Amino acid sequence: RTTLRLDKVLTHMGYGSRSDIKKYVKQGLITVNGIRAKDSGMHVQPESDVILLEGEQIVYREFIYVMLHKPPGVVSATEDRRDRTVLDLLAPELLAFEPFPVGRLDKDTEGLLLLTNDGKMAHELLSPKRHVPKTYTALVSGDVGEEDVRQFAKGVTLDDGYVTLPGELTVLDKEQQGEEVLSRIELTIHEGKFHQVKRMFESVGKKVLYLKRNRMGNLSLDPSLKLGEYRELTDDELGLLK
Ligand code: URA
Repeated sequence: RTTLRLDKVLTHMGYGSRSDIKKYVKQGLITVNGIRAKDSGMHVQPESDVILLEGEQIVYREFIYVMLHKPPGVVSATEDRRDRTVLDLLAPELLAFEPFPVGRLDKDTEGLLLLTNDGKMAHELLSPKRHVPKTYTALVSGDVGEEDVRQFAKGVTLDDGYVTLPGELTVLDKEQQGEEVLSRIELTIHEGKFHQVKRMFESVGKKVLYLKRNRMGNLSLDPSLKLGEYRELTDDELGLLK
């Protein structure tokens, strides 16, 4: 059974800073199992003790899991000196949980990004041993053809000599734009090297112009989420990831 300081529980749940909680205790606004709390540093069992703030029950959760439709122009980091980060898109109540992005999408890449404070689950999703599949759609300059599909299915050699695991490439659509052919493709990869999708296409002489992640493991981006929007995962979705 976990025990935590009362102020820790309340700050974690987004009810203010430690000094705010101290003030609430002083004002007699918090009860634990029906008894007025006298010390914001008292230890409680957050999963079983009944904690009320001004009569409202605090429902404690340790972890949050958020699905974000990452827009271009923000970086997948918790802080950055120059750029806005994906955390800047989240409401303060969620930031109180101290979430971090599970893996990275490039600044110009869009799509499914998970954020959580569950380090164990993040680690398992990112573990190179697990080969959790990730599916992307991309617009590529160049005529992506059967030869590329075969190459990707075998694994391609990146600029640093690394040979990728097999990837499943499907050509969805092509269009002629002046002299140039543009190909719309779907690609599933089973690892996550730096700039992997872009570098896989570079290795076959083509360039990714637009990239979006649609799936990670069994979890798909909710199509009703617009760029920059997010929501917490449902229990079913969480089950799909574990
Ligand atoms: N591959 C890339 O090149 N960029 C991403 O953001 C994700 C996968």
